[in-house]
Amino acid sequence: MKKETERRSRRLVLVPCPLQGHINPMLQLGTILESRGFSITIAHTSYNSPNPETHPEFSFLLIPDGLSDRDISSGDLISLVLNINHNCKESLNQLIQQEDPHRKEIACIISDELMYFAEAVAANLKLPSIVLRTTSAATALAWSAVLELKAQGLIPFQDSRSHDLVPKLHPLRFKDLPISIFADFETAAKLAVYSYRNRTSSAVIWNTMDCLEQSRLLQVQQEHKVPIFPIAPMHTIAPHTSGSLLKEDRSCMEWLDKQSHNSVIYVSLGSIAFLSEKEVEEMAWGLDNSEQPFLWVVRPGSISGSDWIELLPQGFRNGVGERGCIVKWAPQKEVLAHEAVGGFWSHCGWNSTLESICEGVPMICRPCFGDQRVNARYVSHEWRIGIELEKLEREEIERAVRKLILGNEGKEMRERAKDLKEKVTVYTREGGSSYNFLNELVNLIMSF
Ligand code: UDP
Repeated sequence: MKKETERRSRRLVLVPCPLQGHINPMLQLGTILESRGFSITIAHTSYNSPNPETHPEFSFLLIPDGLSDRDISSGDLISLVLNINHNCKESLNQLIQQEDPHRKEIACIISDELMYFAEAVAANLKLPSIVLRTTSAATALAWSAVLELKAQGLIPFQDSRSHDLVPKLHPLRFKDLPISIFADFETAAKLAVYSYRNRTSSAVIWNTMDCLEQSRLLQVQQEHKVPIFPIAPMHTIAPHTSGSLLKEDRSCMEWLDKQSHNSVIYVSLGSIAFLSEKEVEEMAWGLDNSEQPFLWVVRPGSISGSDWIELLPQGFRNGVGERGCIVKWAPQKEVLAHEAVGGFWSHCGWNSTLESICEGVPMICRPCFGDQRVNARYVSHEWRIGIELEKLEREEIERAVRKLILGNEGKEMRERAKDLKEKVTVYTREGGSSYNFLNELVNLIMSF
């Protein structure tokens, strides 16, 4: 009882990066730590601010982000993140001084790996800080390699090298390196250096786990001079946390109820990726020609030049009829858990990858940029639970969908995915490694 009261009086300030794939794990971490007795404050920007009503157990602190409409509409996410870091430092500094003038209540600041300004604020206020990494350990290693390759003049690489393995980075090839499409190399590298190097935090929390990335975690532990706590998958440790910025369309659950077991291919490219009209046309005909039922998330604005699905090819929707369901945003974790879903065509964002693994759903991997390429390679070549889609062409899409849902190869991938799911489940149970690391993290925070 004394311990519980002691923890309640300890406040943790959590600073998420305002992008969907980063907000989700930070809110999940908040839920996990709140259930361990800590009081949680989410310090957030106005841009993509989380909805306080979905988390009455947290306090929310708005940091004026100083972003202009132009910053937001530019679509250049790397510059957006750099601007947030630049604009928010002083505001957070002042806000914390007002909230807790003698720093008696706040035990530490936990910030997203991309929100390095919060770490600087903590150092300035003499508060301990911890970083939350929301991508895989392999991605961190790949970024270190990218910076080294650049220094050696090997990046940008020649097309002829794209299928070569990167030295010391097995199984990644040059084309799997997490290079950004949003900014020039120098700008992206600047963000990478701030996020992966020169950190002052006392520890790193990582949304990954031993059973997925054991050797990679050992490697990153050697590079980081502070303790690492791999506590994943956070969405299963805190299953009811909601962080959706878009409204989920639940009508697709009723549609799934009408489909047969393992028959549906679920298609979603996450919250940032976008497609050209030509790519969407190939996707549409590929899905149609596969003759399998599909649930397709088309996020508003994700098809260049249109608001939603106006650019889908003529005749496609009528042709597929009830066999296809298209929504703007889905309750993805529930969709993946539905018995009708037999495969996930994904861009391989790290959250989507973990969510698919946790439901034992094999994947079609079509990464678009950044860490998605690393994750896709691991899904298809390390865990062998997914098919890599090389070209976005209708014949290849049709083949991949049929192979995954109907073929023997797909069946074997499904079996491996189910085995991986079992392993992951054991790791999060009492006595499992994620469970133990969480206890150690709580002890560390209590020692501050
Ligand atoms: N997501 C969702 N509904 C959708 C599509 C995605 O709730 O229709 C969620 C998904 O469950 C995941 C997050 O959005 O938690 C996307 O994160 P991810 O790291 O996979 O990709 P990103 O959006 O960062 O590219």
